[in-house]
Amino acid sequence: MIKIVFASNNKNKIAEIQQLLPSTISILSLEEIGCFEEIPETADTIEGNAILKANYVKEKFGLDCFADDTGLEIVALNGEPGVYSARYAGEQKDANENMNKVLHNLQSHKNRAAQFKTVITLNYKGQQKSFTGIVKGAITEEKSGDKGFGYDPIFKPTGYEETFAELSAETKNKISHRGLATQQLISFLNDL
Ligand code: IMP
Repeated sequence: MIKIVFASNNKNKIAEIQQLLPSTISILSLEEIGCFEEIPETADTIEGNAILKANYVKEKFGLDCFADDTGLEIVALNGEPGVYSARYAGEQKDANENMNKVLHNLQSHKNRAAQFKTVITLNYKGQQKSFTGIVKGAITEEKSGDKGFGYDPIFKPTGYEETFAELSAETKNKISHRGLATQQLISFLNDL
């Protein structure tokens, strides 16, 4: 049995990945390994934060581990909010306020191009591998839809007329940044 920690306590994310893996690979949450501290996310890139989190578990607990980090990168805002996506409008990490700030900052811009990026970093048997998933799209003029979370109501993926918050979870998972990075991780783990 191969045991790998996912540096997260998000039960939905963990269950989703576990379902796609053979029964010989078991995913453990932070809670399950007795890690209750908040892992610092102090890097200035999305990649850097995924590496920080995966290394934290490796160094403190001596366990193989993967970690993810995600950001929304807006071309007209020079890649903002990027690594600061969760706390763009302040430490309260409020999704509505974050979206309002994006819409406000884009008011005078015609270029609405943006992308979501997820990086998953895996530490396994002394090796480190990172998997990147990107979905390109555009920031809408106003919020639309009530599914999903975070910036979903203002992000329309290329090729779709709906925002992420209007698409079904199934469709979003197939095309999303996190879905694409997760598929790469899973095919790597399935080949172990
Ligand atoms: P995390 O790295 O998964 O915690 O994501 C950082 C921040 O990016 C979150 O707080 C959300 O604001 C935003 N975010 C991440 N994934 C998504 C998504 O799929 N849709 C919309 N916003 C997201």
